[in-house]
Amino acid sequence: MFHRSGWNDNFPRQLDGGRVRDVQQCSTCGKLVECPKCDVSLNYHKGTQNLVCHYCGYQEKSVSHCKACGSEEISMLGFGTEKVEEDIQALFPDFKVERLDQDVTKKKSAFKDIFKSMEEGKVDILVGTQMISKGLDFENVTLVGVLNADQSLSWTDFRAVERTFQQLMQVSGRAGRHAKKGKVLIQTRQPKHPIFSFLKKQHFPSFYEWQIAERREFGYPPFSKMILITLSGKKEEIVVEASELMAKKLRLTLPKGTLGPVPPPVSKINNRYYRQIQVKYHIEKIKPQTIKAHLHDLQKALQGAPIFKSIFISIDVDPT
Ligand SMILES: [Zn+2]
Ligand SMILES: [Zn+2]
Repeated sequence: MFHRSGWNDNFPRQLDGGRVRDVQQCSTCGKLVECPKCDVSLNYHKGTQNLVCHYCGYQEKSVSHCKACGSEEISMLGFGTEKVEEDIQALFPDFKVERLDQDVTKKKSAFKDIFKSMEEGKVDILVGTQMISKGLDFENVTLVGVLNADQSLSWTDFRAVERTFQQLMQVSGRAGRHAKKGKVLIQTRQPKHPIFSFLKKQHFPSFYEWQIAERREFGYPPFSKMILITLSGKKEEIVVEASELMAKKLRLTLPKGTLGPVPPPVSKINNRYYRQIQVKYHIEKIKPQTIKAHLHDLQKALQGAPIFKSIFISIDVDPT
């Protein structure tokens, strides 16, 4: 089954919004080096040799031993662009390799400089994140490789497949846009995933037919409306209690349309804990105003209780 018919909270933690990154892992006990204030692993930056949290900005020096078991066998894990650049350069020592990612483009002129060298044919291999495929239209690109396409496919959002398809179509468009005919290689652990047969055909209408049928079957937008409720607070048990109570009350009105609460992909940020409830409803059956008023009442009632006074509740209608 390739469809996520509901929520699944068993996703690996290193998937933070599809960001490409390197993390450190203990080879003895398998523990990833994590941020003390968030439930994400820290990103290794080769330049500074620092471990950085992309959520709260926390930094520390790269570790030499595991905080959990004391082992000194720490290894690098991941597909960070710096690591890929290093490996590619080792494989093709005679080629000029450049890298384009968020860290590089922090330097003001980097984007323009790399773009210019690419155009002038001074760069043989360009390694980078998705930003390569966005605004750039290089001539003479004859081969595009996509590493770890599964990272965005395994995302639990119902739009993940659509988003991945769009990205891969766009990235494929980078190869052979001009006179030369190009090739695209995609790395995946799910080569039988239907998305790849549509990609091979480069045919959006048939992809659309397949996706719309799945959404109809599982009642996802555009066949329903969605609301995402996020509760957060400093004490995890209080956040859990509040979100369970809210979901219980919502189920009285929408027994089938209430999903959760579940921890979001990143359930702790800067020492705040998060839980989410997803609401699906059909406008033919319930008016959006009725749902909104109901949610507002629930929110007020919940925050009126002294124990839940400090809980923050956000209601996102038609989340994207
Ligand atoms: Zn360990
Ligand atoms: Zn953090």
